[in-house]
Amino acid sequence: MKKLHPIPNLQLPTLSINDLESLHTICKEFNIEHIRLTPGNQLSLSNLDEADNQALIKKLSTVMKPMPTNGITSIHTCADCTTCDNTTLDTSQITAQLENLILPTPMPAKIKVAVAGCKRCCTMPLVRDIGLTPIGKRWRLSFGGNGGRNPRIADIIAEGLNEIEAIDLTRRCLVVYQKHADRNMRTSAFIDKFGLITFKDKIFPKKESS
Ligand code: SF4
Repeated sequence: MKKLHPIPNLQLPTLSINDLESLHTICKEFNIEHIRLTPGNQLSLSNLDEADNQALIKKLSTVMKPMPTNGITSIHTCADCTTCDNTTLDTSQITAQLENLILPTPMPAKIKVAVAGCKRCCTMPLVRDIGLTPIGKRWRLSFGGNGGRNPRIADIIAEGLNEIEAIDLTRRCLVVYQKHADRNMRTSAFIDKFGLITFKDKIFPKKESS
């Protein structure tokens, strides 16, 4: 099989059967032999011809949607919480808010986010840079996980958050990370170097006593 290349700046939404047929037609038109749908909702294709890239991306954008432009690299979510019997909290609304979160850019390194619909954690939030997991009907936020060469279980930053609080705390975590991390330093290495206590002091600033 020929090498696969990810399509930049586009991600896959849930595809209808018609979308899947359109994707198939586009791939045939551009002589793509193999496709892979990645866990991060990206599309990787073989036989990419640079001369055709712009035309291909234009056609793919009719069935795919733009990636977030706020520095978040990927958001792993349950495929469709409405069809999973285990769902505790719907992931679609909070995922849309993450995609539209206003953050300082550029981020020092990749930011992989996972949102799970229940404690079974199919999207593996504890090995992502940011993880959101339902505990009861509230969100738990974790930071600094990594599943790569140097695996690390994320630190729990807070629990019992409503959706607004979870989004706001995600933003604060990433603002502090963006300000203090070295270039190319993933959140896992950053939190080990910066220290969890120092990090929490920054994201939960103490109120001035009157
Ligand atoms: S994390 Fe829970 S809700 Fe999401 S797909 Fe897995 S079992 Fe279903």
